[in-house]
Amino acid sequence: MAKIQMKTPLVEMDGDEMTRIIWQQIKDILLNPYIDLKTEYYDLGLEHRNETDDQVTVDSANATLKYGVAVKCATITPNAARMTEYNLKEMWKSPNGTIRAILDGTVFRTPIIVKGIPPYVRNWTKPISIARHAYGDIYKATELKVDAGCKAELVVTDKDGNETRALIHDFKTDGIIQGVHNLEKSIQGFARSCFNYALDMKVDLWFSTKDTISKKYDHTFKDIFAEIYEAEYKAKFEEAGIEYFYTLIDDAVARVIRSEGGFIWACKNYDGDVMSDMVSTAYGSLAMMTSVLVSPDGIYEYEAAHGTVQRHYYNHLKGLPTSTNSVATIFAWTGALRKRGELDEIPELCEFADKLERACIDTIESGVMTKDLYLISTLENKTQVNTTEFLEAIASRL
Ligand code: NAP
Ligand code: MG
Repeated sequence: MAKIQMKTPLVEMDGDEMTRIIWQQIKDILLNPYIDLKTEYYDLGLEHRNETDDQVTVDSANATLKYGVAVKCATITPNAARMTEYNLKEMWKSPNGTIRAILDGTVFRTPIIVKGIPPYVRNWTKPISIARHAYGDIYKATELKVDAGCKAELVVTDKDGNETRALIHDFKTDGIIQGVHNLEKSIQGFARSCFNYALDMKVDLWFSTKDTISKKYDHTFKDIFAEIYEAEYKAKFEEAGIEYFYTLIDDAVARVIRSEGGFIWACKNYDGDVMSDMVSTAYGSLAMMTSVLVSPDGIYEYEAAHGTVQRHYYNHLKGLPTSTNSVATIFAWTGALRKRGELDEIPELCEFADKLERACIDTIESGVMTKDLYLISTLENKTQVNTTEFLEAIASRL
């Protein structure tokens, strides 16, 4: 059988620890035998980030802007312990943060659903993707403790030095205050990323805020979404047979729980932080959660939602067997290959991505799985396999 040919390279961002081991095995066992893989390779492993003063991360993000599609392995975000472990020159910033800042994108997390791993919410038969706005609000807040007898005001000084003041509170007893902001440009980018991704996935988009209470702040989010939808996306949504739907966050929470899934739920920064943990826990396993960064102008970076699975890596280094689930990392590859196939009109590549995803799901549904799933699967006949055996089982179905 002739290998599938690619036209444009994928931006390949290699990473750290156990996921780096899996990365190579996925290419060897599942991709290279079938595809003449064309990638522009960037080594985001911590050692190489340190050698290049993190320039490699910036270069990989710029390459993504150039080519449009990237696939990323999980990477270590350094902390004090990693400084000594890797003898780092500096505590380099999170690569995901750096890449997100350059692509100006929104992260969408989606669970992979398989029989035998039922979600805690019984009626969730289809995936719910969470889109979290990644700029501002309480994550860029200024806070103060305020003593009794103080008056707190918002003061805005315009470019000519004129002040506008608004009373926050006249404090009779001790208290606290917080100042938050957001930018119209960032909210517009968030909205476009959400509309683009909904069109891409052909699913409905829900957006929720607390606009009844926050009549200027949250209401501005609601208005920006509505304006952009009417002006740029309404016709496209109608053509695709999907819906954009705004509702108050309280109502959204109730509807999400009662729903069967199968939509994107866009949330403000804090709501998305909290709700993504709730939704991913309810679907069962972090190892079955994919993640894609979508920029407002339609650039895509695919990855797994989990980290580098450090504990498994240390066992691997000791020569002990590991049972690490590679599904989310495989789906990062299939997501990127399918997108490349769509953009470059290579239907065989899209078809390959579909078949590889099917092979992963079929393998697990036939009872062959890694330890994380084995512990929670309700299947009667199940077998626990190690990291490599699992990839080989997928290959044999593929
Ligand atoms: P983690 O790598 O996601 O792993 C946490 C635990 O979850 C593991 O110890 C394992 O549990 C389980 N797990 C996660 N993925 C799994 C998989 N594919 N198969 C089986 N079990 C899996 O998170 P972490 O240990 O907090 O972080 C490790 C490193 O990853 C850190 O340096 C962090 O900075 C980095 N990180 C990177 C990203 C990213 O690049 N996107 C995201 C998060 C964290 P058991 O040990 O109980 O088996
Ligand atoms: Mg969180």
